[in-house]
Amino acid sequence: MIKINENYLKLQAGYLFPEISKRVNEFSKNNPTAKIIRLGIGDVVKPLSNTVVKAFHDGVQELADAKSFKGYGPENGYGFLRDAIIENEFKGLGIEADEIFISDGSKCDSGNIIEIFGQSNKIAVSDPVYPVYVDTNVMAGKTGASDGKGKYAGLIYMTCNEENNFIPLPPKERADLIYLCSPNNPTGAAMDKNTLKVWVEYALKNKSVILFDAAYERYISQKDIPHSIFEIEGAKDCAIEFRSFSKTAGFTGVRCGFIVIPKRLKGYTESGAEHSIHALWNRRHATKFNGASYPVQKAAAAIYTAEGKKETDEIIRFYMENAKIISEGLKAKGLTVYGGTNAPYVWLKTPGLTSWAFFDKLLSECNVVGTPGSGFGPSGEGFFRLSAFGHRENILEAIERIKTKLNI
Ligand code: PLP
Repeated sequence: MIKINENYLKLQAGYLFPEISKRVNEFSKNNPTAKIIRLGIGDVVKPLSNTVVKAFHDGVQELADAKSFKGYGPENGYGFLRDAIIENEFKGLGIEADEIFISDGSKCDSGNIIEIFGQSNKIAVSDPVYPVYVDTNVMAGKTGASDGKGKYAGLIYMTCNEENNFIPLPPKERADLIYLCSPNNPTGAAMDKNTLKVWVEYALKNKSVILFDAAYERYISQKDIPHSIFEIEGAKDCAIEFRSFSKTAGFTGVRCGFIVIPKRLKGYTESGAEHSIHALWNRRHATKFNGASYPVQKAAAAIYTAEGKKETDEIIRFYMENAKIISEGLKAKGLTVYGGTNAPYVWLKTPGLTSWAFFDKLLSECNVVGTPGSGFGPSGEGFFRLSAFGHRENILEAIERIKTKLNI
């Protein structure tokens, strides 16, 4: 008799987005003429830039020609892309090209990385949180059961609320593996240098590893916000960084990202013997992954050309202008608003309503869809995420409707 991985049964199965779809579908059925504007899911809407598309085509063309055809590439990524990443993202930070592992995106990387860590680690996550960090640990049997209220036994939850500006601080107890996401999805909060220093000191003291998700680093506008955890001294001894081309260059459908693991980073056996985490991941990646496709890597490298940079910067500016329109519109309506400065997410306080009650109200009164904060964890209750990834006319229309139709 085939046995299943029963850890999957612990999952509070994909409740958030299916529930949103269910409510939106029901509303559409009852209100067929309503023009619904969706600012819920964090997916880009702008097409790939011209330079990226040209490089993509060129890559395909090379595969179409016997003289330049390529089969399997290096599992860890082509040198041209890893070198471009070092030159453009980590210059002066002492990161080397062979510490970069190219992948098909950060969701896979952040989910897969836990394979190389032991079962007895204490794991710390923010609350609210990007759900992938939690669910992948549940699947891997690294947590206990759900309490039915959004938390799993065995995890350390770091509450992020108005009092701490939605910035997680080190817990009192020891955490071995710590997920930090800055700029943050869903709150839009970004960690400054001093806070990251505190984290690095904590991790060094406890011999912990910080998993630093910088998927939104390109959206940082404030000067004192680090783009990489490796800007902090000591981080090469305690951190792994995730980067993605998804939100940086519109690659959500193309799929490319990378992970940075310094060779100095060490992990330990139960008996205390030291091992290279870089070597473990190198083994894992080479065994289970056969490389992102060549044209995709060519397309990714194109964002580092002069034209590519200009084009991607323009797209980021566009989304951040959307974020500003959303923030200012909501403030003008009298709502309390966070985020939107260093991230394409605006995190608003629901006025005296639960997150889901506000969802229903926004949908019925304004025909606008957002994401209830409680779907990201219990501390998200009373908050709501609006995404700046939208067409300008929809953003303007949504804000106009909120200003004129939302009855608060
Ligand atoms: N990390 C965070 C915080 C995200 O919000 C997302 C996507 O929404 C990802 C990672 C996934 O990125 P990718 O498209 O590279 O898998």
